[in-house]
Amino acid sequence: MDKQAVFAQVAHLEERIGELYGELGSLKKKIIELLEENSKLQIENENLRNRMNRKSSKQGEGSVQMGEGFDALARLYHEGFHVCNAQYGSLRTQGGCMFCLSFLYKEV
Ligand SMILES: [Zn+2]
Repeated sequence: MDKQAVFAQVAHLEERIGELYGELGSLKKKIIELLEENSKLQIENENLRNRMNRKSSKQGEGSVQMGEGFDALARLYHEGFHVCNAQYGSLRTQGGCMFCLSFLYKEV
């Protein structure tokens, strides 16, 4: 058995796993960025819809309130706090949180 070749193969594999891990990390970052962008747009959308609802009539008050609940949570998130069950109310120190984002999306 050629030990040298086996070691070389292991080293190579380790390197590839490292690369894959890095790729996974940057993909995760991109997903978080996309979700955050999406949730910002959703806030804007809700704001516009609420404004329109208030102007036109008071019939849609139920949906307005639901929108405002989401709005408050999403706003809190964008101000840098966790809204997920795990760390609710604590400061987000490591950037985006997937738990928060998935929680926000469950609310919609
Ligand atoms: Zn969180």
